Amino acid sequence: MTIPELFKAHALKAAYIGPFRISAAKNGQTYWVNHRFFKTMGAYGETGIFVGTVKADGSYAGRENAYTGAVRNILSGIALDGIQYLIDNGKELGECQFCGRRLEDAESVAYGYGPVCAKKHNLPHTNRHGF
Ligand SMILES: [Zn+2]
Repeated sequence: MTIPELFKAHALKAAYIGPFRISAAKNGQTYWVNHRFFKTMGAYGETGIFVGTVKADGSYAGRENAYTGAVRNILSGIALDGIQYLIDNGKELGECQFCGRRLEDAESVAYGYGPVCAKKHNLPHTNRHGF
């Protein structure tokens, strides 16, 4: 599965994978990869530094830089496991890869994502907190 296929299949607008935020451009053809923690001041305010792009065919079009290897690993992981890659990553990092928030209860850590994202992306979760 490619990034475009993953985003379409699960109605994602962005994903927070490891140190990166991958977001769909408005044209639906390009996906921006930005660093989540290293910020710069751009035309639209503070934003994560630009790392590269993923094209509509799922290939990485970034200029080679310090993050290229890590981004390629993520694309390979998604190619193999699809959404399960995000879930496994979430479990490992204790952070929801759909919204980037820290997973605070044991159930969410076990699922690899939080209850709000579970509802939003139609994934199972026992801790609904009335959602
Ligand atoms: Zn979340």
